[in-house]
Amino acid sequence: MEDFVYTGNPGRVVFGSGTVARLPEEADRLKAKRILVLSTPEQAGQAADIAAHLGSRVVATYSKAQMHTPVEVTIDAMRFLEECSADAVLSVGGGSTTGLGKAIAFRTDLPQIVVPTTYAGSEATPILGETEGGRKVTKSDPRILPEVVMYDVDLTLTLPVALSVTSGINAVAHAIEALYAREANPIISLMAEQGISAITRSLPLIHADAGDRDARSDALYGAWLCGVCLGSVGMALHHKLCHTLGGMFNLPHAQLHTAVLPHAVAYNAPAVPAAMKRLSRAMGADDPAAGLFDLAKQLGATMSLKDLGMPDGSVESALEQAMSNAYWNPRELEKRELGDLLGRAFRGERPPGIGGPGSRGAMR
Ligand code: NAD
Repeated sequence: MEDFVYTGNPGRVVFGSGTVARLPEEADRLKAKRILVLSTPEQAGQAADIAAHLGSRVVATYSKAQMHTPVEVTIDAMRFLEECSADAVLSVGGGSTTGLGKAIAFRTDLPQIVVPTTYAGSEATPILGETEGGRKVTKSDPRILPEVVMYDVDLTLTLPVALSVTSGINAVAHAIEALYAREANPIISLMAEQGISAITRSLPLIHADAGDRDARSDALYGAWLCGVCLGSVGMALHHKLCHTLGGMFNLPHAQLHTAVLPHAVAYNAPAVPAAMKRLSRAMGADDPAAGLFDLAKQLGATMSLKDLGMPDGSVESALEQAMSNAYWNPRELEKRELGDLLGRAFRGERPPGIGGPGSRGAMR
């Protein structure tokens, strides 16, 4: 066993089916008596149904959460929070809603209960990415980590199949980069391997039947494990590329991660053979990069950054920005090869792998 350092993030997790009925117990544990409920406009109805479990403990609902946590939305929500003298927030939704709850908690240190409905994993991290003036800035702070996460598989049944696929692969990205992180350690690697396996196994089943409760449960469990990975160790090339491209071209979060991940894995693979061995084992794929590409494509994901909205002729400027901030990666950042990587991702081509076009992908 090699030397390692492991730091666990505190936090309570309640997992199952119908768990939202237990919200009153959790609110009482936190001594929360005046709860502000948060959601996106699309999930306002679902949030209201869930809030009903809390009865008079709910003082108001704010349903204007947006992707990438714009600071102006947070300021508006803070005014609302002060007017209703809330003493806790309940976030119902994906990473966008969780982001707003975290932004409020960072400023107020109020306790958060999160009911996640996607596989983004934000609920398991002390990380907040906020956007101001077109720039996304990431911070990490213990106040940002939610106190209680209530996973209720029933709420994920409505997550559209296309978003389930890309959100699941977004989660897998956290676990893959944890396997080769600078701070990698045996506990997080165990979680990463289990998380990747649970999600890559369940996505084809969800694609075939969005109401497959067992598969939904596996995916949600995997999402939690992958979120813990993201919150525990540093990320590398894949997350940095997505941060750069998402910020420059406002591309949709989960879809962007899905299109970039196979290429980032192909780039780093030669530098991290032990991590690739674990990834192959978790996915049941000889060549993980090609396997990820094939899995996503077979499940209908858009694999071309151009088709996701990246403008023609922008690969060079994206490359310049991706190279401009030095960050740790297990393989040195080589400009020409990164340019090739971005070009392939832009066009939606399969990454060159150890096994070539016929190599076994992730579908079992
Ligand atoms: P999202 O929260 O933006 O959700 C996408 C859309 O799906 C929204 O309209 C939402 O209302 C809807 N939706 C969510 N769950 C649904 C369900 N069960 N049924 C029907 N509709 C549903 O998407 P996301 O990918 O979960 O989150 C992306 C955001 O999260 C980005 O801003 C990203 O930066 C952030 N994020 C942060 C972290 C972190 O640790 N800080 C981690 C992952 C993602």
